[in-house]
Amino acid sequence: MKIILLGPPGAGKGTQAKFISERYFIPHISTGDIFRKNISEKTSLGVEAKKYLDEGKLVPDEITISMMKNRLAVDDCKKGFLLDGFPRTVTQAKALDLFLSNTGGRIDVALLIDVPKDLILNRITGRRVCPSCGASYHIKFNPPKVEGKCDVCHNDIVQRKDDTEATVKSRLDVYDKQTEPLIDYYEAQDVLSTVNGTGEIDQVFQNIKDVLKDIHK
Ligand code: ADP
Ligand code: ADP
Ligand code: ZN
Repeated sequence: MKIILLGPPGAGKGTQAKFISERYFIPHISTGDIFRKNISEKTSLGVEAKKYLDEGKLVPDEITISMMKNRLAVDDCKKGFLLDGFPRTVTQAKALDLFLSNTGGRIDVALLIDVPKDLILNRITGRRVCPSCGASYHIKFNPPKVEGKCDVCHNDIVQRKDDTEATVKSRLDVYDKQTEPLIDYYEAQDVLSTVNGTGEIDQVFQNIKDVLKDIHK
C-alpha cells in the first residue's frame, strides 16, 4: 500500500504513522525526521535545511524532492510506504506522481487527519520527541512511562526547537497557504479519505483502520 498522511502540524501524523507502519508492514518515511537527523549529524543537507526548520518555513522543493526520490528508490519501498510530511506543496505532489508513474504505480490513499486549529497549539507546545527514534510524546495526552525518557530507547526526550508558539504560527500559515491545496489535489484524484483526528490516540487509529480495511488488498 502507498499511503500519504496529510494534516496540519500537530495533527498526529507521526503518532499514527508508527501504528500504521507496524500493522501494514510498510516503512514510515518522515521528511521532518530525515531533516532532523541530517541536522544533528551536520551533513550538508542538514546545514542547508536547518535555516528553514528553525523559522518554520518549508525547505525548498528542489532539495526536498531530490531527497525523497533517493529515499523512495530504496528497496524497502517496493512493498509500499507511508509518507508523513511529504508532499507539502503541489509541486512536490506532482513530482511524486511523476516518480511513481515511471514504475506504473500510484498513491492508494491520501489520509487527511482532520483536527481543528484550536486543538493544535496545545498538542504542539506539549509535544516531546525522542531524538534517537523519532517517537512523539505529549506531557499531558501521551506521557512516556518514565518521565522524560523514551519508552522505546530510554533516551532523554526533548522539545523540538520549532515547537514554540511563535514558530507554530508560521508553520500553520505555511500549511494554509502551501499544503492545504493538496486536499483538493487528492480529492480530484479520488484518493482522499478524511478521518476525524480529535479523539484519543487509540480512537483515531481505529478511524484510520476503518478506512484502510476497504483499501488494503
Ligand atoms: P504531527 O506529526 O502531525 O506533527 P504528532 O504525531 O507529533 O503530530 O502529534 C503532535 C502532539 O500531539 C504530540 O505531542 C502527540 O503525542 C500528541 N497527540 C497525537 N495524537 C493525539 C490525540 N489523538 N490526542 C491528543 N494528543 C495527541
Ligand atoms: P510537523 O508535521 O509537526 O509540522 P515535520 O516534522 O513534518 O513537522 O516538519 C518539520 C519541518 O521540516 C517543517 O516545518 C519544514 O521546515 C521541514 N519539512 C518537513 N517536510 C517538508 C516538506 N515536505 N517540504 C519542505 N519542508 C519540509
Ligand atoms: Zn526513542
